Amino acid sequence: MLEYDDNNVFAKILNKELPCKKVNEDEKNLCFEDINKQAPVHVLTIPKGKYTNLETFVENASNEEIVTFIKTIVKSARDMGVLSSGYRVIINSGGDGNQEVPHLHAHVLGGGNLGPMITKT
Ligand code: AMP
Repeated sequence: MLEYDDNNVFAKILNKELPCKKVNEDEKNLCFEDINKQAPVHVLTIPKGKYTNLETFVENASNEEIVTFIKTIVKSARDMGVLSSGYRVIINSGGDGNQEVPHLHAHVLGGGNLGPMITKT
């Protein structure tokens, strides 16, 4: 399993060493606003377990962690009021995915038309 960096910024948010603008929280997940919004609504959902990225999560997390993570993503979209207008979920992973923070997180974006999914490389 890819080694987890206990000093990453989301670990510090989970440990309450850093603040966040919380959207929702349960036993296994936390959702908070992205500090550098790319859309009117931009929040991040993270599992509380120490998972570096999507594949380490799927390979090592319990089914309950995986199911509640997906449900919390949708709950976050609902809490932010974008379920009916539409939204986008992005999980960046690894180098080509330009993942910056090595703790699994799902971006939920919305609040306006988000345009094309990606700019071709
Ligand atoms: P990614 O490129 O998928 O790893 O995205 C990392 C995201 O974390 C970026 O959108 C950052 O703006 C966001 N971010 C970094 N530090 C913080 C923080 N302290 N609080 C909230 N969001 C953060």
